[in-house]
Amino acid sequence: MANLSLFTDDRIVRLHDALLVEYGPPPVREPWPPLRQFVYSMLSSRTKTEVSHEVLYALERYFGTWEKVRDASYEEVLRIVTPATFPEAKARDLQKALRRITRQNHGQLNLDFLHGQPESRIRKWLESFDGVGPKTSAAVVNFSTIRNSALVIDSHHQRIAERLHFVTEGTPAKVTEEKLREMAPADWGPEMLDDHHRLVKLHGQQRCTKLDFERNCGKCPLLDMCPTGENIISSRGMRRS
Ligand code: SF4
Repeated sequence: MANLSLFTDDRIVRLHDALLVEYGPPPVREPWPPLRQFVYSMLSSRTKTEVSHEVLYALERYFGTWEKVRDASYEEVLRIVTPATFPEAKARDLQKALRRITRQNHGQLNLDFLHGQPESRIRKWLESFDGVGPKTSAAVVNFSTIRNSALVIDSHHQRIAERLHFVTEGTPAKVTEEKLREMAPADWGPEMLDDHHRLVKLHGQQRCTKLDFERNCGKCPLLDMCPTGENIISSRGMRRS
């Protein structure tokens, strides 16, 4: 009988192991309450990580509670979130979301009731909010104290999945997540999926950047499994190092 394991697609495991050797294990995460993670992830869309953190901390410093953010004037919230991209939409969507959560959670403003609920139900509900897509819903499920299985696909992760030909260019993030989770070993739990995302994101920030990445391909730890890098090396007559 044929050994089926011979035909297993182990590229995601090889990718993970190579990045682990290159960058070392990501720091242990201290998961946040789901509402704080939700707010942060809403703010972080198309915004640099440092800026998103600054805006989150500024909101917390200035208002003190999420109830005060919810009840403040739009202009006041807008002023604080302005360093983030698309601040008008984010201030509006954030306040709308905080009001709706309060209404649907019997007057309480938190997302603690999501603990223990199935991933698919949580994500469907979160994605019904304006300004919330699969990246934010996955972050709430995976990074917060909910700590369930989900794989966050941000722009770095999407770009690298495309360059490695795990998915074709332009594949929606939700489909990319489904494909990568199919490729991932069944025993990769929430922490492993979190680590995997952070390693890939780091590689996207440091080496496989959006622009001007070609000069890094020759020394990239993923070159042996990367069709894009192989093409660049051969078309430019570059040498591997
Ligand atoms: S070989 Fe080049 S394109 Fe491929 S992952 Fe590395 S840096 Fe990105």
